[in-house]
This record gives sequence, C-alpha cells and structure tokens, in this order.
Amino acid sequence: MQCESRLTLDASAADYVVDVANVVREPALGGDRAADLSRLEGLLDALAVFSRDPAVQVYAVADRSLLTDGRLTPAERRRLDRWYEDRLLEVLPRADDRILELADALELKVVSGDNFLDFHRAYPWIPGSRDRFLRPFPESDGRIGIRPRIMPVPPEWEVSRKEEEGILLEAGVLRRWAPSTHAFVLSRDWRCPEPGCPLFGAGDRPSNALPRRRRDKVVCPAHGVPLTDTGPLPRRTQVKVVMDGTVRGRFMVTAGEPLAVGRAPAGGGVALGAWIDDTAVDSVSRTHVVLTYDGKGLSVVDERSANGTRVRRVRPTGDELFPLYRGVVWKLRQGDSIVLHDRLELLPSGRRFVFEEDATDGTVGFRDAGSAAGPTMVGVPTGPSGQDSHRDDAGERRQGPPGADGPFEPHDGRDEQS
Ligand SMILES: [Zn+2]
Repeated sequence: MQCESRLTLDASAADYVVDVANVVREPALGGDRAADLSRLEGLLDALAVFSRDPAVQVYAVADRSLLTDGRLTPAERRRLDRWYEDRLLEVLPRADDRILELADALELKVVSGDNFLDFHRAYPWIPGSRDRFLRPFPESDGRIGIRPRIMPVPPEWEVSRKEEEGILLEAGVLRRWAPSTHAFVLSRDWRCPEPGCPLFGAGDRPSNALPRRRRDKVVCPAHGVPLTDTGPLPRRTQVKVVMDGTVRGRFMVTAGEPLAVGRAPAGGGVALGAWIDDTAVDSVSRTHVVLTYDGKGLSVVDERSANGTRVRRVRPTGDELFPLYRGVVWKLRQGDSIVLHDRLELLPSGRRFVFEEDATDGTVGFRDAGSAAGPTMVGVPTGPSGQDSHRDDAGERRQGPPGADGPFEPHDGRDEQS
C-alpha cells in the first residue's frame, strides 16, 4: 500500500503519531545510509500489521532540518516537500514536544524509542505508561517490527537534570492545555495569516490539524504565528469496520447527522458491501443500524435489522455481549463495539489498546492476541479531541491536572444499560 495513503493530519482520523526524523535517521532500522526514507515506509507497514489495519492512519511530524538533510537523496527530499505541501506531513523546528502535545490532546499512541525525560513533569502520564508508547525494532528478517513499551520511571533527580537542559520549559511552552481547551480548539476552523500555509491555509477545505498552544495563544505549528478563528468546525468521530479481526474500512460520523449503516441503506449512508465480501454482507440488513454522534459520544440504534445487533463490552475479566433491543438507543462507552454478526463489528475510533505486561523485556503484549481486533482494541467513543475518556481497561484513572475536566466530563456511561 502506498505510504501516502497512511499519512494524515486529520486529528479525528489519526491513530498514531510518528517522529519522522527519528525513524528516518535510525540506522538500526535497516539500510546502510545515515538517513533513509524507506525506514518510514517500513515502519508504516509494521504499524499496519501491528494494528491489523492495512490503512492505518498516522499523524507524521518532522523536524524542519529533515527536509534539507543532505544524507537523504534529492528524490527523498522532494517527496518530503510534497507531503508537506499536500498536508500529509507536519513540519516544525522541533518535533518532540509537538509529538507529546498531539499524544496528549488526541490520545494518539506515540511511536518512538525516546524516553522523553524532559517532559515527564509536563505530561505526568508518561512515566510508567504501558499503553501509549510503541517502539520500532529490526526483525530478524530485516523488516521493521513494532512493539508496545513500558516507559521508565526515572529517579526525580534525573528528571530535574533533563528539565534544566530543556529550553522549552523556560519558554513556557510546556504548560498543558486543559482537555476542555483541546475540545474548543478542535471545534473551530483556524486560518494562518502566512500565505499558502499547508496546515491552516485559505483553501475551501477546513483544517483538521491540531493547532499549537503558545501560552494563551493558538498558533500555527508550521509558522508559529497566531491563527484566526473563522467559525465552528463540524465535530466528527471515526468508526472502523472490522471483519475477522482486520480493519477493512473506516467512516466518519458528523455531530448531529445520524448515519445509516448496512448492506445498502436506502436513504444513503455507509454501504458495507464496499469493504466486505458477499457472504459476510448477506446477514447484514440493508439498513442495519443508525449511528449518531453528539460531539462527545456515539449512540447506536437498531430499528429494523433482520438478524439483530449486539454490543460488545470489553471487561478485564472478558468480553460481554449485550443484545441491542429494537428501537432502543444505546450510548456507547469506551470499549464498546457494535456486533453486526460474528465476523463483523463496528469499532468506534479506538486509540487505546489493552495490554498485558510482559515483565521480561519491558514490553507489553496484546491481552488476547488470538481474537478479533474488536476485543483487542478498546474503542473510545469520543470527539476528535479524545479527551472524554481517561480510563484504561484496568479501571485505573489517569491523573489529570486539577480542574482539567472543564465542561467536558469523561463520558463513562458507567450507570447506563447495566
Ligand atoms: Zn501556517
């Protein structure tokens, strides 16, 4: 699959954030050259396998220096230029703090071998994290593999020393935005005053990239200048179509626009036949379910399917299946997926995996690698900001900064439907 089809700056579509320069300049990932763009292609292939999603969507961020790195071939540099112009790649002076900002705001998983010691105080979810970071490594056959990693918990003195070295804290860059601010920023259409800005330019397409924060200002990641708020951006959330454990397709649900999903919905909607084979689509009704997004969470209703619908809820003790009674609106919560039949599920945008610790080498593995992608990926029915749920599958709550919840309370649904 073409590398380009896996790159996106759409905050509501991305699953991972990747430090492009870090990957391209890592000789351990193969090849003889000091910088090699094919390492990024190998990494994207590895992510597709790892996530069982051939069209895995990656938010790629690169240090500006990479675009002029003489160790790349001219063709590779032109390709990077093109990605930047085509809104497939974000380019800025320094990538690491931006990567964490994206991970923090969008709950994207980070692919990196870096320990990010400079940032442990600013992002308290880093030390000890076991579900937010992945590391690329060379497989024995020369290809690139991906595995989850547990982030180290460094002694306090080590963090302090690293912070003194970091100039970013002095610049006041690292004050986190509260999740409610993320939600606001992502709900607006921003424009950059810089002519031809690929991220927030004056095109007719609204930008779904994540603006940066500089103190109290919303700025362009590429140009560092304040952005202008030109109005509301429709909020959207992504749903994946998973058959036999593999992601076959994805679609967006826009807030306030109910979306029919089925074999061939009469009044328009998502026709699953485009992605799945005939036998799998036979037991799906023309309009099987209707999905609704309210800007925070997804709801599903089955009004007339022939074979019914179930909701799979991921629990630490094992998945539970609930029948979705005809006409009853089910508000999906984190971990719920919609089961159309045993081979076919709709999975709300899932940015969290369920891992089980493998203490032997500091990595973690899938809790249930043998089953379908539904149970291994914990769906997060949230808006583009992904801030609605900070609960991991072990039932722990991530510590957020005081007062961080704002008007957007975690959409937990704990007391619903049970
Ligand atoms: Zn700009």
